[in-house]
Amino acid sequence: MRLLANKNSTAYQQKTSAQAFILLLFVLMSCSTPAMSGDKGPKATISIIIDDLGYRLKEGREVIDLHAQLSYAVLPNTPYSRQLARYAQKKGKEVILHMPMQSMLGEAAETGVLVVDMDEKAVVAAMQLAFSRVPYAVGMNNHQGSLLTRHPGHMAWVMKELSKNDYFFVDSRTSTQSVAGKMAIEQGVPTISRDIFLDHKVDAQNIKSQFERLIQLALKEGHAVGIGHPHAETISVLREMLPLLKAENIDLVPISNQLPTKLVLVEHR
Ligand SMILES: [Zn+2]
Repeated sequence: MRLLANKNSTAYQQKTSAQAFILLLFVLMSCSTPAMSGDKGPKATISIIIDDLGYRLKEGREVIDLHAQLSYAVLPNTPYSRQLARYAQKKGKEVILHMPMQSMLGEAAETGVLVVDMDEKAVVAAMQLAFSRVPYAVGMNNHQGSLLTRHPGHMAWVMKELSKNDYFFVDSRTSTQSVAGKMAIEQGVPTISRDIFLDHKVDAQNIKSQFERLIQLALKEGHAVGIGHPHAETISVLREMLPLLKAENIDLVPISNQLPTKLVLVEHR
């Protein structure tokens, strides 16, 4: 800075006075905003996606009926895919497609799974069919996919198709080696990653402590993304713990509200 000032003192002075003005503006704004608005705004935001919807109507409806802005990821090839997607939309909730992808574990229970053996045409066709079965979906996350999300070529095809239709992508991160988020950014698809699985172990005490971890992460980072499933235990913990967010001054928002406006990978490790 000093070298620059010696060489070109006029430019430096202009720069410093501009900096001073910006600083003054900032001070004025930071002094006046809380007094003017009367509240401090949320400390952090959390989004929670409920995955694997479609097989059970009763639990599906129950989790959609929770009085909170959760997001709902619906599997495409189940008896109640359409019905639950429509129900969520009617209740003013956000719907995304929960796209089955090949896992490391072998045979999937789902049909219409994206697998490594597919070429681009087959991937695109499977995705279009899946989206047609989940009305109102505004984005997509992966169901399983610990194998497929490691393949940059397949992920590029997936993201190209999402980009064409202005869908966003949430990486469920079923593999630490997932390149899905990276490929989404390369294709210009807004993306974010799951931070915490709430009910990997279906046990109320464990789900509660995972929920606590989600809160702590959000308070530390300003935002966090959780994924849960329509298990009775999860639903009852959510019912009990969601009201606590307000007390912590944390906003629960649909997942689309958490997408970064700049295309950078948001991921906590
Ligand atoms: Zn799933």
